[in-house]
Amino acid sequence: MQTINPAITESPNDTPLADLPQYFSRARKAFETWSSGPVDVRISMIGQVIQNLEQRLEEGALLLATEMGKPIRLARNEITRTIAEMEYTVENGHGWLTPEPASGGEVRFDPLGVVGVISPWNFPYLLPLRAIVPALVAGNTVIFKPSELTPRCGVFITSLFSHLPADVLNTIYGGRETGALLVKQPLSLIAFTGSVRAGKMIAAQAGADLKRVILELGGLDAAIVLKDTKIETTAKELVALNAQNSGQVCNAVKRVYVEREIYKPLVAAMKSESERLKLGNPTEESTDMGPLISKEQFERVRSFAEDAIRRGAVVESGGIPEAGNYFPHTLLSSVHPESLLLQEEPFGPLLPVIPVDSIDEAIREANGTSFGLMSSIWTSDPERAKALIPRLDSGLVGINTHRAGPPGTPWGGVKESGIGRMKTKDGFREFTNIKFVAVAQS
Ligand code: NAD
Repeated sequence: MQTINPAITESPNDTPLADLPQYFSRARKAFETWSSGPVDVRISMIGQVIQNLEQRLEEGALLLATEMGKPIRLARNEITRTIAEMEYTVENGHGWLTPEPASGGEVRFDPLGVVGVISPWNFPYLLPLRAIVPALVAGNTVIFKPSELTPRCGVFITSLFSHLPADVLNTIYGGRETGALLVKQPLSLIAFTGSVRAGKMIAAQAGADLKRVILELGGLDAAIVLKDTKIETTAKELVALNAQNSGQVCNAVKRVYVEREIYKPLVAAMKSESERLKLGNPTEESTDMGPLISKEQFERVRSFAEDAIRRGAVVESGGIPEAGNYFPHTLLSSVHPESLLLQEEPFGPLLPVIPVDSIDEAIREANGTSFGLMSSIWTSDPERAKALIPRLDSGLVGINTHRAGPPGTPWGGVKESGIGRMKTKDGFREFTNIKFVAVAQS
């Protein structure tokens, strides 16, 4: 196994807040040259970033496992997905930026200026690069703030771009206060991924300044299981899709609504899947679930579990550990409808399973929160599921899956799960000024 570059073993110091206006001025100055150069030069520089990441995959995965606690197999998978998304942007970027003829003139896709990218800790490579790469290919310069919980992953990303001209990508370090001050700079766009709470604060500031935003926020995703589903395979997938990254995934399955006729056998099958998961050292190949990211996150998950148990939930597997950040996968049945975990995102490995008496009831419950990221329907009859999809209030829907799509498919939520879409031509063009040029005969 490769070791981590010694330059990345120490956490970086927080960026002094007073320096932020200078970061903006330098990025704005760098924009003049970067934006006016040929697209192909920018694309080939990002191509080099992809090569750097491919060469340092093991180092990056080990850093992610040790700093965030993501099991090493998932850490590698995050990097592989990131590379695939970057390649897709590089392959298509030139075409997406080529002016298009339009009635009475043409449409151009010019860069905007300086883009602020603020990211969470749960996918500290995939999520920032999903914004940084299109922003740069489109000709913008970027100020990037990684999460204060994964600053070394931020150093790692930044080091991949060291061949770019000065100030085209600058990284600043710090927590909420740093993010809030970054948002106040005269940025042309803020690409934010994180909690609804922070997203609302950013939207308020962006509203006051009339700045553009892309907001990718939390989820409380529901899976709806119809009685004709294949119980064993459904149970296996639902548990895996809740347990990945110890439940710290925005589009994890976080609630399961199942037709009452198969409630008992489904819970029994899910229980045995849940008990099979191996909780342990994230750097070991056989580990399925690592620790939660922090003590605060542990306390949050514990309080959600306690609330559900106090209201009568039955612990089918796992349960609240005495101490430490390792929270086992915990399956809950007989969950009271007013339990906190059915209204807010715990962001941990808790999975409530709730019986319903009709599909209408399942859809009502699935839609009954302020979130709208992803939902899914599990059935042996995909055509029947398709007919139900227009009734689901979410940006993403799965049929017999609850996984994000490959590069080129849209990503984003509705309601409080966010504003905007990423990963597609439309998502890429969020990073551009779509400029209509009217041409009249002289
Ligand atoms: P968070 O909102 O606490 O922090 C995210 C980032 O925002 C961090 O860099 C943080 O320092 C910064 N920040 C916090 N408050 C800020 C403010 N007022 N102004 C500016 N910046 C601020 O979220 P987190 O705990 O890091 O991440 C978990 C959350 O992210 C969950 O809710 C999860 O569902 C969500 N998430 C969403 C997606 C998506 O694509 N929809 C992906 C991953 C995570």
